[in-house]
Amino acid sequence: MGLTLDRVTKTFAGVPAVNELSLQIPEGEIFGLLGANGAGKTTTFRVIIGLLEASKGNVFWNEKKVHYYKSNYIGYLPEERGLYPKLKVKEQLIYLGRLRGMKKTEIVKELESWLERFRIPDYMNQRVEELSKGNQQKIQFISAVLHKPNLLILDEPFSGLDPVNVELLKQAVVELKERGTSIVFSSHRMEHVEELCKHLCILEKGKPIVQGELAEIKRSFGKKNLRIHAD
Ligand code: ATP
Repeated sequence: MGLTLDRVTKTFAGVPAVNELSLQIPEGEIFGLLGANGAGKTTTFRVIIGLLEASKGNVFWNEKKVHYYKSNYIGYLPEERGLYPKLKVKEQLIYLGRLRGMKKTEIVKELESWLERFRIPDYMNQRVEELSKGNQQKIQFISAVLHKPNLLILDEPFSGLDPVNVELLKQAVVELKERGTSIVFSSHRMEHVEELCKHLCILEKGKPIVQGELAEIKRSFGKKNLRIHAD
């Protein structure tokens, strides 16, 4: 059970961005996808969420092909953050929550609780363009988790955040995992993966060069070697 990628390949103009990638991500775990720029992390995520169709191979969630599912079970934080700058936080989150089938009262309640936890409780009626980049990123994160997805895909969630916000987001990720959410996130930074993940995969040119349990990988390869590939 959980998320399964079975020999997933995605080519662009005949060139594979993801190449025969097989992954098994157990339910309720935090999984790290590492790799340098262009390794294929974002493309893998886009195939998982069904934004791109795999050229070959399949993605399964709890043993069912993902395209047979409604997408409400997934939450996605994309690498390119996209909010509506002129709209208030509340307006756009109500809009996004409704697209996910939530009621307005439920959305507002969840939003209030997330804003509180992210230490920006009075931002409900602020326009997005008035917020700092870090706070915009937190709003984007909230938009990915508001509907309580079972599977959360986070593309470079910590990039561009200051250490305090990185910590807040990490705590949120751990709490979501404890509530049973399965989480996959990408990063260039080994330290985030070491702290949060039990299993990981390092991609290079769309292929996994290392994958498995972090503790086991560290024993076999040594930390130094891992950093070379991941940084
Ligand atoms: P980064 O950390 O820079 O985001 P990444 O590991 O997420 O990198 P991808 O964005 O998946 O890597 O890119 C993998 C390869 O596929 C790169 O060579 C990229 O140029 C190419 N690629 C990605 N999307 C497309 C597309 N829509 N059309 C053509 N080529 C693409």
